[in-house]
Amino acid sequence: MRRFILAFVFGGAFLCSLGILFSQPVAANAGGMPGWIASSLPLFEQSNKPAVPLGTGVVQEPVVNVRSGPGTTFAVVGTVTRGETLLILKELGQWYQVRFDTGQTGWVANWLVSLPSRDGSKVVTSFPANLRTGPGTDYAVVRTAATGETFSLGRVADGWYELLRNGTPEGWMASWLVTVDNPPGGEQPLAGKTIVVDPGHGNVNLQWGVVDRGATGPNGLMEKDINLDLARRVIADLTGKGARVIITRNSDGIDGFDGESSDLAHRVEVANGAKADLFVSIHANSATRPEVGGTATYYYSGANQTTVRIANMVQQELVASLGRRDIGCLGANYFVLRETTMPAVLAEVMFLSNPEEERLLNLPAVRGQVAAAITAGIERHFRQP
Ligand SMILES: [Zn+2]
Repeated sequence: MRRFILAFVFGGAFLCSLGILFSQPVAANAGGMPGWIASSLPLFEQSNKPAVPLGTGVVQEPVVNVRSGPGTTFAVVGTVTRGETLLILKELGQWYQVRFDTGQTGWVANWLVSLPSRDGSKVVTSFPANLRTGPGTDYAVVRTAATGETFSLGRVADGWYELLRNGTPEGWMASWLVTVDNPPGGEQPLAGKTIVVDPGHGNVNLQWGVVDRGATGPNGLMEKDINLDLARRVIADLTGKGARVIITRNSDGIDGFDGESSDLAHRVEVANGAKADLFVSIHANSATRPEVGGTATYYYSGANQTTVRIANMVQQELVASLGRRDIGCLGANYFVLRETTMPAVLAEVMFLSNPEEERLLNLPAVRGQVAAAITAGIERHFRQP
């Protein structure tokens, strides 16, 4: 006798909505009661699923202790400060178990952290995208939503949104695949944010007196110069929106560093020392075949979902603005992405080795577009929940 089991990590309401929307009735084949089977859902065991977090909470007090267990008798293992966000995994009594970007977990008193309730903003999908049973690609796909589907916003966790229709959760979707109407975050979501902008290459090897030019185009345009000009434009745009911006080099060369590895270490030190909210490195790409072109954005392959989200938002804005080939967002093991302690992304805006893209990169108007797109992607991250 076959039995059909629908097991979901969500409560009954969600199970019902899934059953109604995505299942078709079938007769059990051993003469039993008619049952329902999902028409397109993979069946899975509840025990295989990671627990769905409660959402992202915000620290409310100047300094809050993080403890090894749910009570003041447990050891303090760290502290968090007002305004920091924490992924809340679960609640036990008056304590939240939280997870940090580093993957470490701990416990904080729940009266010191606010967990925003479902905010109900209107969410519209920008791409055909999967709804899943939890916040991450580890969770099963519920269905694929079409471009332009509208939901209201539920919980926020790990850069993912719980999406509701008529108050009923339909599933979770990556936040970078949607736009949010009138999201909270104020007129100036970048106000008070510290952003480190890193124009790639251009460092001088003091020992040898050699400047790292990066790539060079067929007509002689040098990557180090383009990167610096783009970075300055991004800084102007970000500063105009209230961000505090730090550049890792403002000319050829970084004083006192004598080689590529120490140069990269210096760039990371600038970002880590400033406790920046975001590190953005700007590059132009290169390939041996001149016809290769397009836009790509990188993140460290071990990065958290917040970083993946920023990379996707920057990439989407660049592709929408420039209209070049969309190579996508890619994980990489670049030093500046791996060693920075905050979300860090690296944009390869176009290929300098491609004559048409070299021509575009030489146009001030296009450089302005690149800077505006990078800024728009960053701003979108800080504006969206
Ligand atoms: Zn480069």
